Amino acid sequence: MGIWIVNGRTAEGEKIAVLAENGVIVDIVRGDAADAVTTDGREVVDAGGRLLTAGLIDMHVHFREPGFEYKEDIETGSRSAAKGGFTTVACMPNTRPVLDKAETVAKVVARGESVGLTRVLPYGCISIGELGRELADYEALRDAGAIGFTDDGVGVQSAGMMKEAMRRAAALGMPIIAHCEDDTLLPGGAAFSVGEFVKKHGLPGIPNESEAIHVGRDILLAEATGVHYHVCHVSTEQSARLIRLGKQVGVNVTAEVCPHHLLLSDEDIPNATDANWKMNPPLRSPRDVEAMIAAVEDGTIDIFVTDHAPHSEEEKARGVERAPFGIVGLETAFPLLYTKFVATGRWTLPFVLERLTSRPAQLFGLPTGKLEIGAPADLTIIDLEEERKVDPATFASKGKNTPFAGWHLKGWPKLTMLGGDIVWSELAEKGSDEFVS
Ligand SMILES: [Zn+2]
Repeated sequence: MGIWIVNGRTAEGEKIAVLAENGVIVDIVRGDAADAVTTDGREVVDAGGRLLTAGLIDMHVHFREPGFEYKEDIETGSRSAAKGGFTTVACMPNTRPVLDKAETVAKVVARGESVGLTRVLPYGCISIGELGRELADYEALRDAGAIGFTDDGVGVQSAGMMKEAMRRAAALGMPIIAHCEDDTLLPGGAAFSVGEFVKKHGLPGIPNESEAIHVGRDILLAEATGVHYHVCHVSTEQSARLIRLGKQVGVNVTAEVCPHHLLLSDEDIPNATDANWKMNPPLRSPRDVEAMIAAVEDGTIDIFVTDHAPHSEEEKARGVERAPFGIVGLETAFPLLYTKFVATGRWTLPFVLERLTSRPAQLFGLPTGKLEIGAPADLTIIDLEEERKVDPATFASKGKNTPFAGWHLKGWPKLTMLGGDIVWSELAEKGSDEFVS
């Protein structure tokens, strides 16, 4: 029993060999000794000198099951995660029905386990129906497997309700994860951010303060309640400023950012009709993009997430006003971050990987995200040299909605191991005993 992954390289460039057995990492050999491990007739995977990392973690995805399986289901979402190198994903509860009851949460947990391609950790709703009127039963949701509470997709409009949600979550030692958006500041039909793009096309725009006002409000409420408050998909300079201040005064606030908000501004949107550029929060100004990068660099923003939001082609073809918000992200996240931030020399590989593995695990109390003896054997092999064009037709996700189609990226995942089992592989030979000594 057991699988040796040999001939790997750590993010720091060190040689590494790892033995997975009974679901956990039982041996790690580093340096030149890694070339000479005794594999004792076990199955051997040759990483071919490629990067070997703890499996990636994405704390913000939409798998659409139950209710919107035509967009994505837990099986296709899990396949997409595995192909993107992710071994743990946290699912947003805005399904149909929403995950505001123990039974629905338990079903998602069970379905994720039976698919078995990635760890599917659902969030429960903050409010019943995500309607912002009545709080869900957090204890029941937690007991069913929810790892935190969020009404992602909509903001909690009432400050009083948010404060009570935080008070109850804090009492259970659970986080509140917030989609920050004040509806009273949103003009009807707005698809893009306020800025040059909407000005040029004469469209209504989504203002930065519709996000930041909730961030500021919630940081004050988190200070009052002591809850772990986690801000979803930060996109504005003002939000980053408020989170930075919150951290400075000791509020337990953490934050995430998506690759598209680090890489695209509204100036990149090619036209006012392609809904693959419509996401929520919207692409902001170049100044906001620079602020997001700076906020990652100074620790204001803690982790990277994809906000993987698959929609059908028919839905995205309805024109920007009627098309739903969102883009897919699991299969392009690592290559985007690697190509645009590591290969360019702006960030180091360990810096990027930490925000995709150990940091999210720490923030949310997960046992995964680390290359350590005794940790779950969730591992990913990535080819940092391989260059490929983004082709949505090849996505394992049902969603093909991405603004990155045609981009040439490096750093493609080649093999994903979940709990000691190879769940996805593009390596030519697994089980080759070429390196068995
Ligand atoms: Zn989302």
